[in-house]
Amino acid sequence: MKKQIAVVEDEAELASLIEYNLARGGFQTKVFNGRTDTIRELEAYEPDLVVLDVMLPGKDGFELCRLIRQSDKLAQIPVLFLTARSDEVDRVLGLEIGGDDYITKPFSPRELVARIKAHLRRLGPSEAQASQNLVLGPFTLDRAARRVYQNEKEIELTSTEFKLFEFFLAHPGHAWSRDALLREVWGEQHFVTPRTVDVHIRRLREQIEAVPDDPKFLVTVRGFGYRFEVQVS
Ligand code: CA
Repeated sequence: MKKQIAVVEDEAELASLIEYNLARGGFQTKVFNGRTDTIRELEAYEPDLVVLDVMLPGKDGFELCRLIRQSDKLAQIPVLFLTARSDEVDRVLGLEIGGDDYITKPFSPRELVARIKAHLRRLGPSEAQASQNLVLGPFTLDRAARRVYQNEKEIELTSTEFKLFEFFLAHPGHAWSRDALLREVWGEQHFVTPRTVDVHIRRLREQIEAVPDDPKFLVTVRGFGYRFEVQVS
């Protein structure tokens, strides 16, 4: 079955260029112009990934992303931002809004298609993996439902945060450099930088640590990277 990609972009020419290239890349694509009740339309479409322009006539892309993360139907899907300015990139990377990736205009449609494919590949765990839960200390990660709990309380994670946390849970006590994490978690996406790892770590800490600036689980390995530690009593 073809993966469904929602493209929220108000510039008609750019939208049809993207639509054309995604169709050639083997995706089913639907364009939303951002002028109407986009979040309801996205919920009805149930896409596998959203390409989201920042500057839109109605709610802007950041606001829409927040609504996507609050939506039961859409919360887990990857959101790839289209940004025109570098200060927008900073906000996307800030990740309070829950974006997974960004691409700056002007961009090559081929690159966009490649990134979308990379994100969708990361979403597809094997059958055996999908049926397993990871349980460690206070944490339970339900792969089938793509949900994470800490002491029975659900933690809200974006798809990239989920993947990163899944990796840490599967490899406790091991120190990972930023480059190793990029390779293991982000895979073949070439646009990410070590700073990408840091902002995702910060976001994860805000979710799981009692005191994010003094982490007990996701600790910094000075001059190297990060280690996930769980004392199992
Ligand atoms: Ca726009």
